[in-house]
Parts: sequence; structure tokens; C-alpha cells
Amino acid sequence: MERRQFLQFFLATSLLGPVLTQGQDRRYLVEKTDSEWKRILTPEQYFVTRQKGTERAFSGKFWNNREKGTYRCVCCSAELFRSDAQVDNGSGWPTFTKVANPRNVEERETQTGRGKELSCSRCGAYLGQLTQDGSARLKYTINSAALNFERGK
Ligand SMILES: [Zn+2]
Repeated sequence: MERRQFLQFFLATSLLGPVLTQGQDRRYLVEKTDSEWKRILTPEQYFVTRQKGTERAFSGKFWNNREKGTYRCVCCSAELFRSDAQVDNGSGWPTFTKVANPRNVEERETQTGRGKELSCSRCGAYLGQLTQDGSARLKYTINSAALNFERGK
């Protein structure tokens, strides 16, 4: 009897599995409802990270930050970039040549085909764009509003 119940359970879950995941967005380690994000984040942070917004150039906190330290996801604190990879390219957004931890940053093709969209792989926060310059160097252009800065290290 127990064995039969187990088999029924097993069959039911394995049949339901693919149906349940179909058409749903990717699941993240850190997940919150929209109203929870709104409570935690400032309106600008919410607009950028949760609605894929872009802050105005030269308006953010970190585009010309020269301090040494680590940039973390404003939503979940995942380590994303380090100051030693930050370059001043005059774009008006913090720009990096590489990520601190590749496991924490996700790349997705954009509809325009120009560059890739970047998001945090722990919580799905939209971060900015990945492009290549003329000499094929990678350029991670990130919204300040998606980042927290931790001095030192
Ligand atoms: Zn995150």
C-alpha cells in the first residue's frame, strides 16, 4: 500500500512538473512580491531593477566613483563588480570591464540585437547592458541605482 501510494505520488509529480514550469518566469534564490520590493527600494531603484529602467546619464551616484571597493546588488547584496575593473569612459554610468563573480550576473540577448541585457542571477534585478567596443573589449554599463557600494577590499 505504501509503495503504491509512493508510486502514485511520484507519477503525479513527474507528470505535473513540466506543466507547472511551462510559461513561467525563471525562479530566483531571492524572490519578493512587487509590493515588498517597493517597500525596500527607493522609487528610482525600483524603476531600474524591477522595471528595467535606465537612470539619466551623469545622474547616478557611482559613474565617477574613484574609491576602492565592491559593488553589490541593491536588491539582494550579491557581489557584482569591483572598483579595479571600473573604467571612466565618460558615458555617465558606472562602467566595468569584467564582473566580480560571473555566477552572479546573467546575460540575455536583447530584442534590438545590440548588446546584451544584464541582470542579477540571485534576484533577477535588471542592472544594465553589456556591449563590446571597437576593439572587442567587453563593457558592462550599469545603472548606479542597481548598486550599493562597499568601501575597501
Ligand atoms: Zn540581486
